[in-house]
Amino acid sequence: MLLSAAMIEIRALAANPGRSKHPDGHLAEIRLIADVCHNLPGADRPPPPGEYDGLVCTWQTAGDFQRSWLRKHLTGAGVDTAFLEQAPSLPRPATAPGTWPTWERWQIPRDPKTFIAVGSSTLAGLVRQAHSADHYPTHGPARTAFLEWFLEHLHPEGRHVLRPSRPGETLFQPDGPNDLRQYRALVTMSDGALVVDHPRLREADVAALPTNLHLLRRLLLAVVPARRAERDAGLWARHHRATASDCRLCRVN
Ligand SMILES: [Zn+2]
Repeated sequence: MLLSAAMIEIRALAANPGRSKHPDGHLAEIRLIADVCHNLPGADRPPPPGEYDGLVCTWQTAGDFQRSWLRKHLTGAGVDTAFLEQAPSLPRPATAPGTWPTWERWQIPRDPKTFIAVGSSTLAGLVRQAHSADHYPTHGPARTAFLEWFLEHLHPEGRHVLRPSRPGETLFQPDGPNDLRQYRALVTMSDGALVVDHPRLREADVAALPTNLHLLRRLLLAVVPARRAERDAGLWARHHRATASDCRLCRVN
């Protein structure tokens, strides 16, 4: 619906530049419309299963002109945009790949004990075990394929940090069945980028791991709200697929 509206508007703007309502003219308007649609779920390929909340993500990264364009067309199609306006902030794309969190502002460490570090094969094992116990209705073969693709792209020497999601953080799926819970993970990818992921893991599997992080490191992770400098796994995946055409790991698939 948005895409066909965009095609019609872009064609009309190209034919009749005078119609443009953007202060920088018709080319600027065409570019903004094309950009906002490029990020829409399903714009250039089937919806990537790991990339939750695609429309929310598009909304939150859109500029004012693009938001009013989306609002006009969604409202025109009878879609209430309140869910977009009120959605909690998703993690933003990083300006530079992988940096450790910085001390931006203090926050009382609520749960330093819950942080643990795992290597890539441990993390992959946790994710696969949980996934095989998971029967969430939207999970199909595409979701499994994305998970495997993602796990193959973990840095082989990565030390990934896990903690349970906290109350008030976006819950992408309800907890359960059984002891499946959402975790927040700082994951190091094959290109060294540090990304945020929200894997569903079995609480019992995580509890069975040794608490191996030094207390100082745990305190550091607990006090630092690192979100601003991080990008989420879905954005990393999209960027990687768009730019790393020579990736050896992608070619295997
Ligand atoms: Zn790749």
